[in-house]
Amino acid sequence: MSLLTIEGLQAGYGARHVLHGINLSMDDGQILVVLGANGAGKTTLLRAISGTISRTGSITFDGKRIDQLSARRVVAAGIAHVPQGRGTFADLTVDENIRLGAYLRSSADAKRDRERWLAFFPRLRERLSQQAGSLSGGEQQMLAITRALMVQPRLLLLDEPSLGLAPLITRDLVNTLAEIRKETGMTVLIVEQNANLALAIADDGMVLESGSVVLRDSAANLVGNDEVRRIYLGYE
Ligand code: ATP
Repeated sequence: MSLLTIEGLQAGYGARHVLHGINLSMDDGQILVVLGANGAGKTTLLRAISGTISRTGSITFDGKRIDQLSARRVVAAGIAHVPQGRGTFADLTVDENIRLGAYLRSSADAKRDRERWLAFFPRLRERLSQQAGSLSGGEQQMLAITRALMVQPRLLLLDEPSLGLAPLITRDLVNTLAEIRKETGMTVLIVEQNANLALAIADDGMVLESGSVVLRDSAANLVGNDEVRRIYLGYE
């Protein structure tokens, strides 16, 4: 069943049009990777879905139109966005950042969930009272994802989670995302430069070019597609 359906989505910045009528749908529980060159509009797509920039077209999530909702209401509807650059509060502790993610929820619920997510990210548990700004890049990314999960999303939007991380840390993070999906059935839309790794845990991938979807296929087919391999996966 489709959890997210997007039709004719347009968005940009002031007079600059970046997305030119995107159509896409995601099934419940699916991981979809967005590939595309720098400036193709990947970040803009996530911002348009999460309502952090204005957009036109229709976005239906879990049977309801959300394209007219403010960013805050999109979160309340069940979509959490981890932006590029992570967006954690550097002066707050790890625990305070995690609790902020649960501001819409009862404290008993939030406490139970905090335990659940910390089980996926044990390094954070060891650093609960440490200032977020003093975490390593990988730990900050784990924190940003944990905070987003505390919103209890049905759809997680991840913008280049591996940015600036060492290859081994990236591999761990991507594997943890796969575990989270396996255990929770969460739906994940992920923009990731490390396309090899992302496609390894994804069901589907799509290619954005100049603000339009030019290809959408299963992850396995994309890995086997010569052009995708040459341009995005670094094979000759
Ligand atoms: P990258 O892989 O480099 O992150 P991207 O595919 O995510 O690229 P976007 O960040 O969505 O691309 O940018 C698409 C276009 O929109 C680019 O030309 C960019 O310069 C422009 N753009 C992005 N953010 C803004 C902004 N806040 N104001 C004006 N233009 C912007």
